[in-house]
Order: sequence, then structure tokens, then C-alpha cells
Amino acid sequence: MPELAKQSSEKLPQGIPPGEIAEVRCSFCRGTGKDPFGIMSWMSNCCVCGGKGVVRVKAPYRPCPHCRGTGAIKTFTCGVCRGAGYVPRPAGPTLVCPECRGSGDDPASAMACLTCLGLGLVAPGES
Ligand SMILES: [Zn+2]
Ligand SMILES: [Zn+2]
Ligand SMILES: [Zn+2]
Repeated sequence: MPELAKQSSEKLPQGIPPGEIAEVRCSFCRGTGKDPFGIMSWMSNCCVCGGKGVVRVKAPYRPCPHCRGTGAIKTFTCGVCRGAGYVPRPAGPTLVCPECRGSGDDPASAMACLTCLGLGLVAPGES
């Protein structure tokens, strides 16, 4: 087996081969499985993980830049990661988005950056 070249210095989750589905703690409810903001009721299940406290993401993944890995924008589910707090990391080389400088935020609003769709990374050559 030839060794794969390192794509970046970013820490990747250990032990999860790319393309595999990993179960991670739900960022939106912090693993409690309950609605973290009590929108419907404090006793209702988290709308992101359905009450399980874990969500599935495809490896490799990285914390969602738009919501800073919290899964929430104020009390709303983050539209980029859908509340999971993690986004799949694109395969292949990537650049920090020049528009939002990797923050995933649209500079003019609270929405996700349109250039990188909130991921904070773009493929080289995209603009
Ligand atoms: Zn949850
Ligand atoms: Zn997010
Ligand atoms: Zn961007």
C-alpha cells in the first residue's frame, strides 16, 4: 500500500478511513438529544439528531466554520452543517475561501458565504 500524501496540516479524525460514515456527538444539543433552545419544548427531541445525541458525518470531516462547530446560528440550526457541527472535508487540494477568509460567513450578512457555501474552503481555480 503506497502512503497517501498529506493533504494539509489539519487534524483529521483518527481511525476513520475517508468515505466512511462516522458517528459524532451532535453539536446542536451537545449530545443531550434534547432541544437545546426549547423551541418546541425543553423535553422535545433535538431536531438534528432526533434525540440520539449523535449524528453521522462522512469522513474526513472538519468543524463547520459557519457556526464554529456549534451547530447553531443563534437559536437556528446552522444551514451549512444542518446542525451537526461538522462538514465533510472536500477531497483533493483546497484553498481557504478568499471571500470569507475561511470563516464561512457572508461578509454582508449573517448568512453563509456564497462563494464556499459556508465551508470556508474552495477548490483551487474556483472564484
Ligand atoms: Zn442533537
Ligand atoms: Zn454549521
Ligand atoms: Zn467563503
